[in-house]
Amino acid sequence: MAEKLVARKDVPVELTWNLEDLYPNEEEMLKDLERAMNVAKQIEATYRGKLNSPEKIAACVTEYQKVHETIYLAESYAELAQSVDYQDQHLQELAGKVGLECAKYRACLSFIDVEIGQCDESMIREAAKLNARNAGYLKKILLDKPHQLTPEAEKALAALGQTFGTPYEIYNVAKLGDMTFPEFEVDGKQYPLGYSLFEDDYEYEENTAVRRGAFAAFSKKLTDYLNVTATAYNAQVKYEKTMADLRGFDSVFDYLLHDQMVSRELYDRQIDVIMEQLAPHMRKYAKLLQKVHGLDKMTYADLKLPLDPGYSPSVTLADAKDYVLKGLSVMGEEYGAMLKEALESRWVDFAQNLGKSTGGFCASPYGTHSYILLNWNGRMSDVFTLAHELGHAGHFKLCNAAQSLFDTDVSRYFVESPSTMNEVLMAKYLLKTSEDKRFRRWVIANMIGNTYYHNFVTHLLEAAYQREVYKIIDQGGSVQADTLNEIMRSVLTKFWGDAVELTEGAELTWMRQPHYYMGLYSYTYSAGLTIATQVAERIDAEGMPAVEDWKRVLTAGATLAPVEFAREAGVDVTTDEPLKKTIEWIGNMIDELWRLS
Ligand SMILES: [Zn+2]
Repeated sequence: MAEKLVARKDVPVELTWNLEDLYPNEEEMLKDLERAMNVAKQIEATYRGKLNSPEKIAACVTEYQKVHETIYLAESYAELAQSVDYQDQHLQELAGKVGLECAKYRACLSFIDVEIGQCDESMIREAAKLNARNAGYLKKILLDKPHQLTPEAEKALAALGQTFGTPYEIYNVAKLGDMTFPEFEVDGKQYPLGYSLFEDDYEYEENTAVRRGAFAAFSKKLTDYLNVTATAYNAQVKYEKTMADLRGFDSVFDYLLHDQMVSRELYDRQIDVIMEQLAPHMRKYAKLLQKVHGLDKMTYADLKLPLDPGYSPSVTLADAKDYVLKGLSVMGEEYGAMLKEALESRWVDFAQNLGKSTGGFCASPYGTHSYILLNWNGRMSDVFTLAHELGHAGHFKLCNAAQSLFDTDVSRYFVESPSTMNEVLMAKYLLKTSEDKRFRRWVIANMIGNTYYHNFVTHLLEAAYQREVYKIIDQGGSVQADTLNEIMRSVLTKFWGDAVELTEGAELTWMRQPHYYMGLYSYTYSAGLTIATQVAERIDAEGMPAVEDWKRVLTAGATLAPVEFAREAGVDVTTDEPLKKTIEWIGNMIDELWRLS
């Protein structure tokens, strides 16, 4: 058990991020928000019902973009302030208040998209020529235009907008609100259980009886919520299918891939190739875990076990910063300067305190620097998390500086590339720093057991399952708990084969991820890491020319579709070669683990 957490007010200031870089104080933020709200109302009064010339469209979008920047900053300020202390009532109220204003703002200006979409294509193209910074935004409207409905229908859908989020709300309420876990007993001893306690602790627990006992107790509780979760999920996918039909897409897949600018071929290949070719390597990894831990059998409940639980190098914050600076120094001086600034000028909130959001994230408000939330534990694995989040910061520093706000909304397909690439670079660096067998094994095991497992196994198996669900939905069918369990079980069986026994409850894995309420999200994790792995290899082999290509591609933001993005970085994802090479790389690392064990 970790040390007792302190209150936010008792955290040393150097461990916190500096929100004053956003606004000197809350009052200034609120004043700015109020000003922006007034501007939004003026935009509405000036342009609603009057977007009938290229000049007016261009002027409107320019004003819209400017006010949107302010709204984004104010919203970020409130959300970031709240994220480090959910127990602070005042910050809760502030976030609530700002959130409400932002919702009003969106309702006020939602006419812009709709009305421009109703204009002639030629008029929109003319408008795009008038201001290059609006071009991406208007291009997106042109892409969506064939799928737009009549103004009345769009208005009706917008009015119903909030209810469309209900399935996800039900999922969250069931999972985070209603679901409470009783203690479970192993060998006469009682253990507390909770959702994150299970996913963050027990899945990694070294004691086999406790680990498997926790899995059984966790699964039993999930079963109580089986039908409600399946019903919510069925409502979600049926809604998506209805939207796909209404908007004239050939299939629900095309509808969901439309925003990502990804073809069905690219999507299918990612799933097919990994299911086929990564599986043998991961079975070998599972066998290694079984051997190292001396397990009677390898079960689904044992897969998250660290290879060497007794060995977790600890690291001071000062050393961690040093590791990151050195590990990522291959990225060049300019990038190094950004890292230094991030670490020294309080972009990062390292503290652990009561009421703070768990895990880590990077937020990159437009017009200022990124903010990184971490819960620093002093473990070497935290260095990887830090490098990961700094990857996002580096990406958005480059693209926010080069692109207009609306052109920084990058495709999910590669949003995790810069972050996971930093993890790969860190691992490569650490392997060069030491010949110690156990340390090297830990570094590789951390990559396989965390980075690659998370992106290439956990999320990919979700993606394979999800594809089967959508196939049924696309044919006009619906899904119930039994069907979902069956699909999950067959995907897991196909991947793990005889190497892993599917513990009872493994088939419920589909109940655990919120990603299913976010469209075709799960498969993108492995897509991003495929690009990252290949670019990291290129940087290793070629040095600065590859780094320069990478930095240039990062500045492009959303102006490049995924295929172009990868191509500019020297990776051709229109073929399966990058993916096959990445799988081979993973396979080699697993072989190396066998040699070191
Ligand atoms: Zn990330």
